[in-house]
Amino acid sequence: MPVFRVALDLPLHRLFDYVAPPTASRDDIGRRVRVPFGRGEKIGVVVDVADSGDWPLEQLKSAGDVLRDLPPLPADFFALCSFASTYYQAPFGEVVLQALPAGLKRCEPPTRRAVRPPVPGQPPVLPELTGEQAVAVAAVEPAAGFAAHLLHGVTGSGKTEVYLRLVERALAAGRQALLLVPEINLTPQLEERVRARFPQRTVVALHSELAEAARERNWRAAFAGDADIVLGTRLAIFTPLPRLGLIVIDEEHDASFKQQDGMRYSARDVAVVRARQAGVPVLLGSATPSLETWANAHGGRYGLLTLQERANRQATLPQIRILDTRRLPLQEGVSKVLVEGIRQRLERGEQSLVFLNRRGYAPVLACPSCGWVSRCQRCAANLVLHLADRRLRCHHCGFEHRVPKACPTCGNQDIHPYGRGTQRVEEWLQGEFPEARILRVDRDSVKSRKQWETMLERIHGGEAEILVGTQMLAKGHDFPKLTLVGVLGADSALYSADWRAPERLFAQLMQVAGRAGRAELKGEVVIQTQYPEHPLFASLVAHDYAGFAAGQLKEREQAGFPPYAFQAVLRAEAPQMADAIAFLKAAAALPLVAAHEQVMLYDPVPMRMARLASLERGQLLAESMSRPALQAFLPLWREAIEGIKAPAKLRWHLEVDPLEF
Ligand SMILES: [Zn+2]
Ligand SMILES: [Zn+2]
Repeated sequence: MPVFRVALDLPLHRLFDYVAPPTASRDDIGRRVRVPFGRGEKIGVVVDVADSGDWPLEQLKSAGDVLRDLPPLPADFFALCSFASTYYQAPFGEVVLQALPAGLKRCEPPTRRAVRPPVPGQPPVLPELTGEQAVAVAAVEPAAGFAAHLLHGVTGSGKTEVYLRLVERALAAGRQALLLVPEINLTPQLEERVRARFPQRTVVALHSELAEAARERNWRAAFAGDADIVLGTRLAIFTPLPRLGLIVIDEEHDASFKQQDGMRYSARDVAVVRARQAGVPVLLGSATPSLETWANAHGGRYGLLTLQERANRQATLPQIRILDTRRLPLQEGVSKVLVEGIRQRLERGEQSLVFLNRRGYAPVLACPSCGWVSRCQRCAANLVLHLADRRLRCHHCGFEHRVPKACPTCGNQDIHPYGRGTQRVEEWLQGEFPEARILRVDRDSVKSRKQWETMLERIHGGEAEILVGTQMLAKGHDFPKLTLVGVLGADSALYSADWRAPERLFAQLMQVAGRAGRAELKGEVVIQTQYPEHPLFASLVAHDYAGFAAGQLKEREQAGFPPYAFQAVLRAEAPQMADAIAFLKAAAALPLVAAHEQVMLYDPVPMRMARLASLERGQLLAESMSRPALQAFLPLWREAIEGIKAPAKLRWHLEVDPLEF
């Protein structure tokens, strides 16, 4: 009698064996099945049909109904899951199940509605392509099979138009297109733009904030081949698409393509593998590509397509000025030059943006008399002062407390906020420009996708003359009247211990600078810094991403950092740091480690954020100059680590290609 190997949504994600029904065959692989589990039942996915299981048949329970409301998940879906499972060291069952919307894993399916049908409208008038755009469109040939291309285009150079032309071509060939964007960019405006462009086609969105029923409906339409265009965030990368013809990753450097819990995967990297498996082109677009992608494009693995001119020919690149704040008087961190710039914009009816990547009023509240500072009791971090609702709040674990009236240690009533965040800058600017309408845009004023959309509408509707915001505002949105961007507080990233910090800062500054002067109005960017001589600024002023990237890559090559080395990190967290470190030391001392000479293990150390939500966290970095050597080592290491006796409250995981430490 055959046995179903079933993936079930349970914490350890091992596969479970059940006696298959008499009618079972290998055609059932990829179907969902109802199975008894504990005292109830669960819906799982049949990942294999075998002649026998790991246990004697009489000890196995019998599977229930095989669900036939959907075709079985196809072989290419399992091939992709298999790659991700091996590469990211995640249980196969976990990879399979995380790819399915929750509704498909429920015993009681929700009521379903149909996807929004296309509303036939006027086919839009297509903008004329620039020469560079035309070259890029011509270079990505869907019929030619797999090829990966980097589309490197400055802000406003019309990358989206290139995507849309390629989508159009894929659709004309009877294929589906998968378009991935960062979390914050997937707004109904973008969805509407795509719908308006393809009025005859079915477009579905897939992202984490969709209601469960909507996500299942859209997923089904994609899987059935009814949806022509799938517009999604990272989770959409595993959606099975029977007619896949093109994958586009917009803002490919964006950190939101990396999943930070469960299976820690990079949707961008999975996309390239998927395109190769499916034999279709993949296009990675960015104004500031990740250095990994840049190195791939220069090493010849990816094609390199460049858009250097702005699509709107009147629009020129903004002028970037670096202000040396060591010699300038500042008020609340803002220089006279910037204040004067804002005043001029107000007089001309234009918008200004003050960019400060720190929300709240001040990063810490402290007592000058006894030295007390507002620390989070659960994390190695300070509690941030939020004056808007009079709370002290931890940005890492969410712990919060009302603002004390006096120092909790010595009773001194004269406690001070130190440093500044968006709320403080907003307050000061309002005092300076009492007539101006100021909008603050950060995670406190914009908590949901809906609020984000409302905020964008208000900005577009001219409701704000001055914007004060964090990196939320930096990403992919056009504000036609915005002509001045001022950057405060960028210095901390310049000399950070995190060697990826300059890459992130450069991308962020390029992105926020790109907000200035996108229409006919010329843009100006003012960056205040105490380190004006830092080479990052010279590249920024020259709009020279390539020069910046070359410098960074050279440094990384000399230091032996990615992309010239390959890394995985073992992390352990426990109530006591000593337990976490002891566990990591045991993992480093496993006998097989010595046998893998090409893999080097560093010493176990506390993570940069050593304590989070009452857990102490340590890490052990494994590195190799050879990816195959690292990949050969990891599954063996993982298996051996599973045999280490650890305290009950210790949790550990492996992350491949980690971005943060
Ligand atoms: Zn005190
Ligand atoms: Zn905390």
